[in-house]
Amino acid sequence: MPATAPTADTALPFTPDDALAVLKTVFGYPAFRGQQAEVVAHVAAGGNAFVLMPTGGGKSLCYQVPALLRGGVTVVISPLIALMHDQVAALTRRGVRAAMLNSTLTRDDTARVERAVRDGGISLLYLSPERLVTARCLSLLAASPLALFAIDEAHCISEWGHDFRPEYLSLSLLHERFPCVPRIALTATADAQTRAEIVQRLHLGDGRVFLSSFDRPNIRYRVVEKRNVHTQLLAFIRQRHAGKTGVVYCQSRSKVEETAAFLDAHGISALPYHAGLSASARQDNQAWFLERRGVVMVATIAFGMGIDKADVRFVAHIDVPRSVEGYYQETGRAGRDGLPAEAWMAYSPHDAEPLYQQIRQSSASGVRRLIQASKLDAVLALSETAECRRVRLLRYFGESSRACGACDTCTNPPRSADATPAVRRLLACIKAERQQANAGQVIGALRADGRTPCEEEWRAIVRQCVALGIVAIDHETGGALKWTSESSGVFGERRKIVLRRWRAPRKATEVKHRTRPPRDLGTYATLLVRLRAWRADRARQLGVPVHVVFHDATLMEIARRQPRWRWTLGRIPGVGANKRAAFGDDILKLVAGVVARTRRR
Ligand code: ADP
Ligand code: ZN
Repeated sequence: MPATAPTADTALPFTPDDALAVLKTVFGYPAFRGQQAEVVAHVAAGGNAFVLMPTGGGKSLCYQVPALLRGGVTVVISPLIALMHDQVAALTRRGVRAAMLNSTLTRDDTARVERAVRDGGISLLYLSPERLVTARCLSLLAASPLALFAIDEAHCISEWGHDFRPEYLSLSLLHERFPCVPRIALTATADAQTRAEIVQRLHLGDGRVFLSSFDRPNIRYRVVEKRNVHTQLLAFIRQRHAGKTGVVYCQSRSKVEETAAFLDAHGISALPYHAGLSASARQDNQAWFLERRGVVMVATIAFGMGIDKADVRFVAHIDVPRSVEGYYQETGRAGRDGLPAEAWMAYSPHDAEPLYQQIRQSSASGVRRLIQASKLDAVLALSETAECRRVRLLRYFGESSRACGACDTCTNPPRSADATPAVRRLLACIKAERQQANAGQVIGALRADGRTPCEEEWRAIVRQCVALGIVAIDHETGGALKWTSESSGVFGERRKIVLRRWRAPRKATEVKHRTRPPRDLGTYATLLVRLRAWRADRARQLGVPVHVVFHDATLMEIARRQPRWRWTLGRIPGVGANKRAAFGDDILKLVAGVVARTRRR
């Protein structure tokens, strides 16, 4: 049974001076920052709390100082063993009795820590949620003088959170098993839904919520249209951050390797970091990055949790992030020293397609998939916005703000145009489909009457309307487009909807191969799909691998050039005289058919 936990309504046992004394003597800081003092006072007095504070805001002190003031054992639940290790080491250096229990400990060490915990000889005990729920650990805690539970990275408990971890669900047992021990939940990112879920699952309803501003005024946000991303990245670093420390985030391990090698070959000291590297290589690269100036870390999102380096001057995303929370957390690693820093992203809507596909095909539950898809929608909306990036980013976290005057949309407003007629057609079509059709179906219906815009442009219009709140995507019903409370206003006489002008995006791979982008993406894509299907058939008939019929690059070139004659077909690289003789008629017929059909639309 918990021994010494006072309840929230006991008289304040600590004065602000006591807290300040701990801050100074133990941690060596002269003053609390932001809301720290308030949180510390509330939690030290035994209150439950939910703390939402941006990365680098100083969440750790919010429970470490109360832990020392309250005496007894504060249990810190943290998802990553590596993070625990760093925290325990840092506390120990400051003379705080801190320990962790996890699988890396020997049996003797485990027994020693357990004894110390039971005797109250440990002030801060770090545990993973998996460890916490073991019978052995629960009985240890029941026999120990508990002071406080601190749940770090609390968004992991929410299925809406961008980083849901099922193990965290078991934490709802804390209030049942230890009703007298106060709880403080901390996170750096949570949208409204995630917040509500944290409060509900951890029974923090009676606690205080401490919301800090998410604004990072020294970070300048920029999104550029992705073309040849390596060249763009290199120019960005050379022109704006030569010799400076930075992080480049990529989606895949191979992209990390490629990009780091590319930068390195161009005289920028870049290191790779991803989960596929050995633990020691990761450690070395991380240490090198932390200890030196001017190193660029090229990484997957595996990199960064708990990284506290003050002089990161830029964070670049060369692939689309999967959630606004992730983007915010990653970009938040820039400019911790308060000096100007940049968050730069190279964006192409094409990047999102494979991510949506992965989500659709994943083995996660239906609800999970819908949540993931709507998180990705929000990233696209942020990328496509014609509004101030900072305003949009902060609005995502429920904060209103004014245009920053520094981001790309503020300094260089996108070319935009009155799209009211198109938006009205879109809304009318959504209604005609009784709000049950998804974007693809609605766009299909719109295009059936043969007018422009093209499919890609319609998609951009839909994304922007979603971003503006004129259209909603109902992920619970397979992505059906719906009207919102704003929709009918669009039909008002004077209402004008200005959207970012759409331009055909160029695919990075095509730029690399020095080809021009296809004129009409719809035809190109359809043709490519049909060509591949045809190739698969022929390969089967002939009993050969598909690339023996035609290489992918050749099919792409055919789809792009859409040849009408045998001689133009023959000039496409990869179509020799033999292949032209064998497959020429098939190809020309296929191309003509698809082109005629898509033109007619
Ligand atoms: P978070 O967990 O919110 O990302 P941390 O607790 O790791 O942030 O703190 C970020 C950095 O700010 C750390 O280096 C920490 O020592 C420092 N810090 C936190 N609070 C203060 C303070 N009151 N005064 C000075 N430095 C602080
Ligand atoms: Zn702005």
